[in-house]
Amino acid sequence: MLIYIAGSGAMGCRMGYNLHKAGNDVIFLDNWQEHIDCVKENGLKITGDVEETVQVEMMRPEEATREADVVIVLVKAMQLPEMMGKIQGIVGENTKILCLLNGLGHEDVLKQYVPEKNILLGVTIWLATLVGPGHANLAGTGTIFLQSLDKSGEEVGRQVAEVLDNAGLNASYNEDVMPLIWRKAAVNGTMNSTCALLDCKIEELFASEAGLKIVNHIIDEFYEVAIAEGVNVTREEMAEYVEESSIKAAHHYPSMHQDLVQKNRATEIDFINGAVYSKGQRLGIETPYCELLTELVHAKESVLKI
Ligand code: NAD
Repeated sequence: MLIYIAGSGAMGCRMGYNLHKAGNDVIFLDNWQEHIDCVKENGLKITGDVEETVQVEMMRPEEATREADVVIVLVKAMQLPEMMGKIQGIVGENTKILCLLNGLGHEDVLKQYVPEKNILLGVTIWLATLVGPGHANLAGTGTIFLQSLDKSGEEVGRQVAEVLDNAGLNASYNEDVMPLIWRKAAVNGTMNSTCALLDCKIEELFASEAGLKIVNHIIDEFYEVAIAEGVNVTREEMAEYVEESSIKAAHHYPSMHQDLVQKNRATEIDFINGAVYSKGQRLGIETPYCELLTELVHAKESVLKI
């Protein structure tokens, strides 16, 4: 099985490293030339739970020629259309695209490039950091749940889950992955933009009475839109998952804080709170908290000239 990692940043390195170590045929694709050059010259440096440098194949997407069995897309959400356009040369009739991005609505983008039967949607709680070009920090553990968008892709979807699981990634096929995607999106939707705008850690947001009030309004909005979309989730489950995640990650800054405040990079806001706002608009549901948070994050991006 030839597996491409399309987007070899923090998470791409996490998945690709495990798959490579488990003996799979893995090719890493990326657009960041400095990162590719470092990996070609010195190998991919891994620190964290293990310290080693592995020799892996990394190239630009347009340089790849062998037809893929599976492509795991792990770019940031706003980079997805560009990456899907660039990998068309390696996507065959049966190539499966596994999407593990945070956020909502990626299936609508993927459907513009590949048939539904070849799309696997998933969600992961693994964590990773790209320390610099050619260097990823991989620590802790996580899970992956995935499902084929179309029933006809289920058998191969199960095989892909098995390959990931055999690589130590705790992956399994799930017959209703959408609620899991939504509850993870609710975690990101409550903590990412708020902590980035307030410049605070997750525990500081949750220790604040006003912060908690905002969190609860955001959960309401995610829940109402999810239900209107036919997602099988309860508000209680969503709120519990947000609370559990806030306790586990209490001492951390969420990834949007790292992107926006620490690294001055564009955020995935349009695919988190922004997605709930635009879905809400289409469904006739008011989502004023998601709308305002999306605008504030965009305003911050423009203040920072990102
Ligand atoms: P990332 O920013 O590390 O990498 C995404 C892309 O940006 C890669 O192509 C990478 O090479 C490029 N990039 C990174 N730093 C760059 C720089 N300084 N200059 C130029 N290019 C640069 O993103 P990620 O954290 O791997 O996230 C990928 C997806 O996985 C996102 O949807 C994210 O929300 C999701 N996710 C991430 C984590 C995590 O812990 N990192 C956890 C769960 C889900």
